[in-house]
Amino acid sequence: MSGYTNPETIALHGGSHRADPNTGSVAVPIHQTTSFQFQDTGHAARLFGLAELGNIYTRIMNPTCDALETRIAALEGGAAALALGSGQAATTFSVMNLCEAGDNIVSSTDLYGGTWNLFANTLKQFGIEVRFVDPADPEAFARATDARTRAYYAETLPNPKLQVFPIAEVAAIGRKLGVPLIMDNTAAPIICKPFQHGAAVVMHSTTKWIGGHGTSIGGIVVDGGNFDWEKWGERFPTLNKPDPSYHGAIWTQAAKPLGPIAYILRMRTCLLRDIGAPMSPFNAFLFLQGLETLPLRMERHCQNALRVAAHLAAHPAVARVIHPSLQEGEARRRAEAYLKGGMGSLVGFELKGGKEAGQRFIDRLKMFYHVANIGDARSLAIHPATTTHSQLDEQEQAASGVTPGYVRLSIGIEHIDDILADLDQALGQ
Ligand code: PLP
Repeated sequence: MSGYTNPETIALHGGSHRADPNTGSVAVPIHQTTSFQFQDTGHAARLFGLAELGNIYTRIMNPTCDALETRIAALEGGAAALALGSGQAATTFSVMNLCEAGDNIVSSTDLYGGTWNLFANTLKQFGIEVRFVDPADPEAFARATDARTRAYYAETLPNPKLQVFPIAEVAAIGRKLGVPLIMDNTAAPIICKPFQHGAAVVMHSTTKWIGGHGTSIGGIVVDGGNFDWEKWGERFPTLNKPDPSYHGAIWTQAAKPLGPIAYILRMRTCLLRDIGAPMSPFNAFLFLQGLETLPLRMERHCQNALRVAAHLAAHPAVARVIHPSLQEGEARRRAEAYLKGGMGSLVGFELKGGKEAGQRFIDRLKMFYHVANIGDARSLAIHPATTTHSQLDEQEQAASGVTPGYVRLSIGIEHIDDILADLDQALGQ
């Protein structure tokens, strides 16, 4: 590990890679191989027995993925990380690593739609219950907790409401009850450091800002190394009871020589081994490219979004703008407490003309791309009522923060004049 503390430097130099020991290659080589040659049978046995760490098979580990994992772990201030094939895989693994059938987690209601569906429907198939609570009331997490609660789950900056989650408040409740907080920090890399506020696990869809160029799907889970899984042994049987799938290994014990990484070690050696869903080395390389300029891009993303929010708030065709800079009271306090160096690049707004005005606006955009993605270097827009949220009725849409005239923007890093000009011409000014 490099020991750097500034994100601009970690993004370029953090983690395990310096220069390739065999070739001197400065760029991280793409190790596009399925398997790794063992030195001899003893070496192979030691790797399989976890007596020595090393590369075996790319479903479970790969040096290009390792460079990304160690760099993102350093960036978040965590102990170790695991790269996966998508953000959805990262969320699924982050929960399944702690839960067995009959267990539950407590989640914020303010979630990406894909996560909502995973929690409300798919995890239920496996006997894992998700209890949804309103994040505006942190104590709701305590009230929903029982002896089978294995984790709390939330997004740092969830859209469409864009109200920052009370990370420290809920993490503190969890630490008192022995429940770790898992934060989806996808929308706030660099600007929010959930581990500093008590979160135990951080995940990202690297598809978004980390990749930054709209080319690749990926996800990552970071172990904060800051949660005492042994102290709450009864709550975490997957980490504290002998694991029949690995010669009776107890993961909190097996991890001891390696560091405070029981959670991520078990995720790699059991879930990734059995379920698959690894990140491809090629995608890890692309995410490393994105990561190098992430701190710089976040700065510009956030500056541009701030200007867009203020511009739209003064526009006669706009009824309401949703952006942390325009919030008041507790929401504003949380935005200021948890977001440093910028308030993100998502901006929501509602057109006075309702659904037709929303659709007309999107159809008139020339530079913004009309896509379901967020976090691209380019500016993106979507009309949720007729796309991402079209399966919900109007009441359900309203509950999730989507009104008929609501438009979601993901502001890119173009020149601000061009962004505002495209918005103005699409608004009909
Ligand atoms: N989390 C958030 C906040 C997201 O916005 C998304 C995707 O939009 C995901 C997770 C899922 O990520 P992926 O699309 O990489 O599976």
